[in-house]
Amino acid sequence: MRARVAVLAAVLIALSICLPIVAAFQLAWHLAVSTQQDRLTLFNDHAIRRASLTFSTAKDTLKSMASTGFTPCSDEHIAKMQLVNANNQYIAGIGYIDREGFLRCTALGRTTITIKHSPSPHVLDDGVSVIRRMMPRVTGSEPRIVLYRDNYDVLIDPKQLVDISLDEGTQLAVTLEKVGVLAERGNPNARFVQSLISDPRAGTSKDYVYAAARRGEWTAIAIQNIDQIDPEYTRLKEALIPIGALISLLFIGASIWIIRWCNSLKADLILAVWRKEFTIHYQPLIDIRNGACVGAEALVRWPRRGGGFVGPDTFIPLAEQSSMIFSITDQVIASIVREMAPTLSAERSLHISINLSAADVSTGRVLNVLERELDGTGIRSGQIWLEATERGFVKIDDARDVIARARQHGYSIAMDDFGTGYSSLQYLESLPLDALKIDKSFVHSIGKATANSSVTPHIIEMARTLNLACIAEGVETDQQLKYLAEQGVQFAQGWLFSKPLPATEFMAFFARRKAEFGLGAEATDGGSQLWPRAASLATP
Ligand code: C2E
Ligand code: CA
Ligand code: CA
Repeated sequence: MRARVAVLAAVLIALSICLPIVAAFQLAWHLAVSTQQDRLTLFNDHAIRRASLTFSTAKDTLKSMASTGFTPCSDEHIAKMQLVNANNQYIAGIGYIDREGFLRCTALGRTTITIKHSPSPHVLDDGVSVIRRMMPRVTGSEPRIVLYRDNYDVLIDPKQLVDISLDEGTQLAVTLEKVGVLAERGNPNARFVQSLISDPRAGTSKDYVYAAARRGEWTAIAIQNIDQIDPEYTRLKEALIPIGALISLLFIGASIWIIRWCNSLKADLILAVWRKEFTIHYQPLIDIRNGACVGAEALVRWPRRGGGFVGPDTFIPLAEQSSMIFSITDQVIASIVREMAPTLSAERSLHISINLSAADVSTGRVLNVLERELDGTGIRSGQIWLEATERGFVKIDDARDVIARARQHGYSIAMDDFGTGYSSLQYLESLPLDALKIDKSFVHSIGKATANSSVTPHIIEMARTLNLACIAEGVETDQQLKYLAEQGVQFAQGWLFSKPLPATEFMAFFARRKAEFGLGAEATDGGSQLWPRAASLATP
């Protein structure tokens, strides 16, 4: 157990230190990356807006030119094309194509060279063909994107599509579905761009942080060097690591609390209750008048790992603070039934005394447990005595009711530790008891000049007045026994006769005692029930 707690302690403390700090680093990195990705997504959105506006302007131009009624390549026609070209910032050129596909004139005038558009593999839904790259031979300028339909074509400068403001080092690619990459900035890696087109996503690689955005048929991809996020990462680390350290401290505090708790008696007890680790020792109860063994008090024992027992005085008060005490009472009853049923069935004069907790008495729950557990075992209810301390009678009305019900079931009831509490004669009279157990502190005072010693005869007298049987516990000497016998006390238990014994040893003790002393003085009626004989017992 201790070794396990030590391992748990080491693991908990290590995790308490590492987890929050690692989490702070992770969170700082994650936030820095996502901030950068948000920025890249913003660029992507700008680029897509720009590209789609450029394309729709070009398409509108194709449409409006197709509906003009000019004589092809007439001066008016060319002037019109010049006007359209000059007034439209997105368009880098416009031309007229005849039926055979030859370029006849442009905004610059009639063509002198033969230019023919071969059919484009990229035809958009609205019938517009797209050539991704063409060197305009008329102007001899940089490569242009060509859009054409029917008798007109329109040139677009690819730079136009990505002409947005970017951060230093940002790479950008804009692609159109069915056509492919139309424009780029910063020379992004073609293979990487392709992989992002087929699966648009945001992410990081060893060298880059990237984001892709798809809007309709447009996809834009923005890529930035990973070291671009360093300043933000550093800023976030500086903010988050102290918080992580603080959480670490809290976790360490919580771990210490958990470890302490795991090391506590309460935690051990919870585990013991759950594992049903308790055993019972039986302390013989002797009929003083003839020396016979008439029964035993069941005393719960919690075996310690490595030998010995934890005393009930240590753990019963702790168990009584929670519902654990109920489980312990239940385990005690179950053990008694398991170990003693054959002996109790064979020896009707024998009884077992069970210590009840205050909660057992005030709730009466134990009566249902007993009924269930005893059913069909051969044990008679008269063979069960119940011991309740004064603490059990705090809620006097409930207790009176439970005791009355217990006696109706046939159990005998003794008041335990009598004399240690505050019971008045009047108070005792109102309880339907069968016996008083004189606490061992009074028995030990016999023959000594202590304050208790003068009380002992009064306690015995009180039992007699109330017509209750009297049981003395903790009898250790012949002198004590002699005194108790003279005083008319009927029963005694204590080390003078025997210490509490495991079940088999108790049975052997009982057999020896029976052979030597026979059965209890009251055993002739074949029962061990105190009530209704208590009254007759009380008069010597
Ligand atoms: P208790 O009911 O007063 O039980 C008598 C105590 O005196 C027992 O202590 C017993 O071992 C001890 N004893 C018996 N003979 C002698 C003797 O000659 N000299 C001395 N000095 N002591 C003697 P134990 O077993 O440690 O039990 C302590 C208390 O724990 C019990 O006091 C009882 O109140 C409680 N307890 C024991 N078993 C149970 C149980 O199953 N349920 C509940 N609720 N309480 C229990
Ligand atoms: Ca007792
Ligand atoms: Ca006692």
